[in-house]
Amino acid sequence: MAEVLRVSRLPDPFRAGQRSGWKVIDASTLTDDRSFEADVAIVGTGAGGGTAAEILSDAGLSVVMIEEGPLATSSDFHMREAEAYPQLYQESASRKTKDKAINILQGRCVGGGTTVNWTSSFRTPEATLDYWRNAFGLEGFGVADLAPWFERMERRVNVAPWTVAPNENNDALRRGAQALGLGFGTIRRNVKGCWNIGYCGMGCPTNAKQSMLVTTIPAALARGATLLTRTRAWKLEHANARNGQISALECIGLDARGTDPTSRRITVRAKTFIAAGGAIGTPALLLRSEVPDPHGVVGKRTFLHPTVVSAALMPERIDGFAGAPQTIYSDHFLDVAPGGPIGYKLEAPPIHPVLAAITLPGQGEAHARWMRELAHMQVVIALLRDGFHADSPGGSVALRDDGTPVLDYPLNDYFWEGARRAFATMAEIQFAAGATTVMPVHASGASFNRWLDAREAIAALALAPL
Ligand SMILES: Cc1cc2nc3c(=O)[nH]c(=O)nc-3n(C[C@H](O)[C@H](O)[C@H](O)COP(=O)(O)OP(=O)(O)OC[C@H]3O[C@@H](n4cnc5c(N)ncnc54)[C@H](O)[C@@H]3O)c2cc1C
Repeated sequence: MAEVLRVSRLPDPFRAGQRSGWKVIDASTLTDDRSFEADVAIVGTGAGGGTAAEILSDAGLSVVMIEEGPLATSSDFHMREAEAYPQLYQESASRKTKDKAINILQGRCVGGGTTVNWTSSFRTPEATLDYWRNAFGLEGFGVADLAPWFERMERRVNVAPWTVAPNENNDALRRGAQALGLGFGTIRRNVKGCWNIGYCGMGCPTNAKQSMLVTTIPAALARGATLLTRTRAWKLEHANARNGQISALECIGLDARGTDPTSRRITVRAKTFIAAGGAIGTPALLLRSEVPDPHGVVGKRTFLHPTVVSAALMPERIDGFAGAPQTIYSDHFLDVAPGGPIGYKLEAPPIHPVLAAITLPGQGEAHARWMRELAHMQVVIALLRDGFHADSPGGSVALRDDGTPVLDYPLNDYFWEGARRAFATMAEIQFAAGATTVMPVHASGASFNRWLDAREAIAALALAPL
């Protein structure tokens, strides 16, 4: 299949745009230091940066986009994990929290997370917006305030109901939830003409996913914006500026692998700077820049929705690597009142071999046994909704000695109580859907053939970071 796609004749509109003269500069190829000037400089080209770039260039402003990842487009997407993770993800998809307890998947490429995400498209729930208003006094972000913005972006990236039958992995979540009388729904997706291949996490080879890479960024480039790739925004200069304004952004060129700095320096001057480097990249830039932070909030309260995983074996083939991922969800356990125990959302992710191999516990024969059953493996994940309780303060971004970021995210009893409930819920759903074996993904690697045994073992599971 990879070889077929390698010679694919599918159109690659981004490459066509480049041929028509779009201003795209790969800093790994620069032989001199460079400087740029614009009305607006935007750090990061993910959901935030890409959207800002289109809106501002549409408004007639000159825009420079600064992206530390590479430009990779549909012609480069070969549905191969071994290529995609090192090329398109932060720290080769192995970014970890400080104590290594949580693996963090984040995009690092033109389009950021939107180039590699799984296309599930939800609006921020009303309960979340209410909580932010009531607990933190955040005004102007109510359901009615945001509705026109959501509508606009949903139109832009073609968010629509997914009317194709779910793949077996998602259908098992649906069946299990239905058998237990739990609420569930179909997830809307941001795709246009999706082939239902299921390789969204490796970059969409058919340009069906309406990521920033195929929507807002091309639109901004067509309006004359400049895109700098393999360019790491390092420091906002403000020391000698009047009124605390930022005078320039100092950037570092990266090598062709997009990881190690070169000696190339790029300076960007602009009237306005937008930091859209993601939940970890943005605080890192602000910390390196030593921006005024009188309340000590930069990088604090960084939330992840930490995810626990339950793997099951089904008698029938599941082929969780094929077909759209995450098309069914259940919020049955999510809507817990603020101040109560942690709630969680249930989804069924893609199950590709590398992702499965690094997620499953154990090693040697026990691990190999599970991997041999990949085609029969069914997986449910529970995303625990952190940040709605005093005992859920999130994590803090800090800088390593070399200036790169690391997130410290301590896990406490409040979190573990929810993780234990989520393991039990997922196991019950999987047995109700017909699983013959269920393994809560945990260092013990214990697996169970009956719901009652699983329930007892999960109640006693030792839960703590390794
Ligand atoms: C595998 C995966 C699956 C996901 N699935 C879903 C899903 O189905 N539904 C959903 O809603 N969300 C999903 N997400 C999350 C979603 O994609 C992100 O929440 C969203 O992209 C965040 O947007 P952002 O603009 O804040 O940051 P990002 O999209 O992460 O973009 C930030 C960009 O900034 C760049 N950057 C960072 N620091 C610097 C710097 N110093 N200089 C230059 N550039 C920098 C990064 O390389 C990156 O490209 C998924 C994410 C991943 C990784």
